[in-house]
Amino acid sequence: MGVAAAGDMSEAFARAQDQRDELAPLRREFHFPQSKSGETLYFVGNSLGLQPKSVRAALEQELDDWARLGVEGHFAAKHPWLPYHEEVREPLARLVGALPHEVVAMNSLTTNLHLLMVSFYRPTKTRYKIVIEDTAFPSDSYAAASQIDFHSRLVGFEKRDALVRLKPREGEATLRTDDILAAIDRERGAIALVMLGGVNYLTGQLFDIATITRFAQEQGIVAGWDLAHAAGNAHVKLHDWNCDFAAWCSYKYLNSGPGAVAGAFVHERHTRDASAAAQLPRFAGWWGNDPATRFKMRPDFTPVASADAWQLSNPPVLALAPLRESLALFDRAAIGKLRSKSVALTAYLERLLAASPVAKRMHVLTPTDPAQRGAQLSLIIDGATRETSHRLLERGVYCDFREPNVIRVAPAPLYNSYHDVWRMVTVMSEVFS
Ligand SMILES: *Cc1c(COP(=O)(O)O)cnc(C)c1O
Repeated sequence: MGVAAAGDMSEAFARAQDQRDELAPLRREFHFPQSKSGETLYFVGNSLGLQPKSVRAALEQELDDWARLGVEGHFAAKHPWLPYHEEVREPLARLVGALPHEVVAMNSLTTNLHLLMVSFYRPTKTRYKIVIEDTAFPSDSYAAASQIDFHSRLVGFEKRDALVRLKPREGEATLRTDDILAAIDRERGAIALVMLGGVNYLTGQLFDIATITRFAQEQGIVAGWDLAHAAGNAHVKLHDWNCDFAAWCSYKYLNSGPGAVAGAFVHERHTRDASAAAQLPRFAGWWGNDPATRFKMRPDFTPVASADAWQLSNPPVLALAPLRESLALFDRAAIGKLRSKSVALTAYLERLLAASPVAKRMHVLTPTDPAQRGAQLSLIIDGATRETSHRLLERGVYCDFREPNVIRVAPAPLYNSYHDVWRMVTVMSEVFS
């Protein structure tokens, strides 16, 4: 984008950007909800992504196969059900920068965090702390605190100070990487696990996953990541960055529907050596057993040497079909290109807001550095309440309000256009003027 163009606030400029955008046609692959105002400006892909149009046929295929074949669908369905989780393995791996055998689609996000902590949070009397963001998503806080409680009863450590919550400096909204490292360093002998959100759900801050992971591991600490707001948004490289584990949901940027089946990553270091893998504590189920012996129906468990070892149950076919359809669109876009568009689109949103009448009563929580954020901008707007977001919705603007006073706006590069952004800022300016 040229310097002259960067100052251009016109509608024509937005249209021209869309003309030039090679990802623009992907927008037509999604259903947009109908709005009373006749215009839909959907900026909550960070909360529930839009439905890909191909999902309906994919679900009907499974329903038809079930009706037509019954149990034989496990083998004879168009997409056989028995290995159905394999359908999403490779696209999922591409999306999060993993090797195919390092990822698996299963369960829901919080369930996966628990299952992974069972294996990777292994506290002792002296090393037992878990580091999270002070503004971690509540479910992550509850999951970590309840793991601490569970283990403290068995191991007998002091659980009162076991959950370390990283707070920004006075007067700042986001965390500095150096401060995160310093906090880890201060208690390095006592910390068992660092488990942060790749992108913080409230502030939109994208953490330096590689640096934090490396630093934690140098102190003998496990580094796990919650990618709920990073998967399909930021360009992550879980394998190269050597992350120990990660989990994410698929209904936000991954557009796979309400309560969609989640994802999990376990670095191959932890599974390559079968005897080491067998030593890991794990809550096991039959779908984590080596497929070669799974149907021998033996009582002893042989974990498959991959992330699949954490799978408990046979794959939820009706939940996986939308994920497969959605991931096909990510493959069409390619995450690198998607991220480039996202960086430009969010910068455009930031620029328009800064030049709008909203600016004088607005404060942006999200870092201005594109390397430290994903698609989302978190705004504090003077006088904005939950009521205000209803008024925006009446005008067709979908954004969300988080207590106490944060409005989150996330242009999703798969389906949002520059013109969407331009219109959204125009409507906001009217509502807030
Ligand atoms: C959305 C979100 C969740 C939600 O958890 P579910 O188990 O999918 O209901 C948890 N953690 C984070 C960081 C989130 O953004």
